[in-house]
Amino acid sequence: MMSTAYLQCIEERCGRIQDPKQDAFQCSSCGGLLEVKYHFPAFDSEALRKEWHQRRLSGEPEDRSGVWRFRELIPFTEPRARIVSLSEGSTPLVGTRRAGWWTGPVHLTVKHQGSNPTGSFKDLGMTACITRAACRGVRRVACASTGNTSASMAAYAARVGIQALLFVPRGQISAAKLAQALDFGALVVEVGDTFDQAFRLLRDLAPEMGLYLVNSVNPFRIEGQKTIVAELLEQRAWRPPDYIVVPGGNLGNVSAIGKGLRELLDLGFIQKAPRLVVVQAAGANPFYRAVSSSACELIPETKPVTQATAIRIGNPANWKKARRVLEWSKGFVESVTDEEIFEAKRVLAEDGVGCEPASAATVAGIRKLCRAGKIERHADVVAVLTGNQLKDTDAIMRRFQGMESERRLRVEPNLDALRHALRAAVRD
Ligand SMILES: *Cc1c(COP(=O)(O)O)cnc(C)c1O
Ligand SMILES: [Zn+2]
Repeated sequence: MMSTAYLQCIEERCGRIQDPKQDAFQCSSCGGLLEVKYHFPAFDSEALRKEWHQRRLSGEPEDRSGVWRFRELIPFTEPRARIVSLSEGSTPLVGTRRAGWWTGPVHLTVKHQGSNPTGSFKDLGMTACITRAACRGVRRVACASTGNTSASMAAYAARVGIQALLFVPRGQISAAKLAQALDFGALVVEVGDTFDQAFRLLRDLAPEMGLYLVNSVNPFRIEGQKTIVAELLEQRAWRPPDYIVVPGGNLGNVSAIGKGLRELLDLGFIQKAPRLVVVQAAGANPFYRAVSSSACELIPETKPVTQATAIRIGNPANWKKARRVLEWSKGFVESVTDEEIFEAKRVLAEDGVGCEPASAATVAGIRKLCRAGKIERHADVVAVLTGNQLKDTDAIMRRFQGMESERRLRVEPNLDALRHALRAAVRD
């Protein structure tokens, strides 16, 4: 299939189609965000669903990938282009018991993106965007990151032999994420105190240094990330849930999910779209504040604070795309405290489901929205758990610090002491 992709500005008053040779991430006339658009052929949705399903049995890397298996939805590569894949996607959809009860009760299932190759949903976007970079002969890619984007960029860049530069706020990203980036050979530049500061500096520097930006303002990231909805719907026999809930940082993920749903609806794969819900951390919730007050502009949070580091972002670059998909899906935004996030994380763990703190914000948000009557009891809800439990073990260990915890015993190495200690602690 020939590529029919083009880039267009999302601003209603502009909508300018971009020069295809530029591959920019900002509109050349108004500076607005860009999105990838296609002239899709008329699909036979039934036949294509069968084909997608069949590909799961194939051994071809392109068919194994949960992104490229749905390649008809992202036809931006030329025929026979080299796909840069690590067999991303195909992540589990897991039911919950306690978490569903605790939140509503609702029928809560979690789509666990933490089982991607580098441990977060960022891999879905990165396979698309590094493939694009490789097609265009890019030599250096770069991102500013709260951690997961960098781990992912470093892995995919390594795979295709492109140099990766990473801008991170000093001392602000988890050790595991930094270790991943270093392990995959990225050049790490610690600069500034917040993600937003590092990102702004990178944006200013990128053109003169010839750096290809792979942050989620890169519209090809969104293309990879949107395939999660095709995979999710396939896992549910193409029955859309009532709600899909995601944590909101830079707001690329919700924008991608919204775009994916909208295209699947337009193409006749589904008849109704779920409502999208974004949950932000209370100390980093400028989007929540903008939407709740119906403001026309977003006022950035200059000092974002939350222990959910993956969503510690004060000036979300994709907020206009996010607002558009929320309006379209009649969704909403919620804001939750760190206490609520960690409580939700504990409840998920009781179901045997681990995730990083930012991901648990979804479940905390669902509970809050149920209590406010905005999500009805017994609704069919999917929470997207964006990152792996092992991405941030410090956050877990902080909970068990010191010896006061009844879950951590330190015992003298003799049987009497052990009997004594365990008698009190072991459950009947
Ligand atoms: C990147 C990330 C987010 C935030 O996603 P956005 O697209 O920036 O809104 C949430 N959780 C985790 C684990 C992430 O890595
Ligand atoms: Zn424009």
